[in-house]
Amino acid sequence: MKTIGMIGGMSWESSAEYYRMINQEVKRRLGSLHSAKCLMYSVDFAENQRYQAEGEWDKAGENLAHVAQSLDKGGADFIVICTNTMHKVIDHIERAITIPVLHIADATTARIHEDGIQKVGLLGTKYTMEQDFYRSRLEANGLDVLVPEAGDRAIVNQTIYEELCLGKIEPSSKEAFKRIIQQLVDGGAEGIILGCTEIGLLIKPEDVDVPIYDTAHIHAIEAVNLSLE
Ligand code: GLU
Repeated sequence: MKTIGMIGGMSWESSAEYYRMINQEVKRRLGSLHSAKCLMYSVDFAENQRYQAEGEWDKAGENLAHVAQSLDKGGADFIVICTNTMHKVIDHIERAITIPVLHIADATTARIHEDGIQKVGLLGTKYTMEQDFYRSRLEANGLDVLVPEAGDRAIVNQTIYEELCLGKIEPSSKEAFKRIIQQLVDGGAEGIILGCTEIGLLIKPEDVDVPIYDTAHIHAIEAVNLSLE
């Protein structure tokens, strides 16, 4: 079994889910007392979020590059960055280490292709929905990507930082997300990417009529695939 190196804490609400899902999947596959070999370096999210808000992406990248080096030195065989947004600085991380990084968008598109889906709606932070680093990766992998209109993007972004990353699950936000998802479906989306690792805490498959792709879950399962390869 290879050792999974997790860059966590962004937020810890979803990192706890990664830890649970990875261990559950290893137990499901290997049985009895088996559990995942993994390291998690959990950062202070407030510091990271300040860098995001100030546009200091190089500082955020350097910070996470040091974290990745610690995981590399600590014996990780590969890295998972437990947030979609911070894949914006994956180049900083990859430059700093010799072990591979399992990209969350690549794992997700591979899963979507299995279902033969081409056009997807993307929900995530404003950085993930609006900037090029994430969408272009999905598009390079052959997907057509729809995002909500500006007012709805603001609602999704605000819900992530002011509720989900703080562990608040509000029924009114669930209704808002369902409405926003329905608009994407009306616009032609055949599936919805939960492109923020906390959205799966709010939206479940039964809430939506089309397939949903929870990036945290897909990423965690792919990490186990790689670990047990
Ligand atoms: N966990 C979130 C994501 O998947 C947002 C938190 C962050 O800004 O890293 O994008």
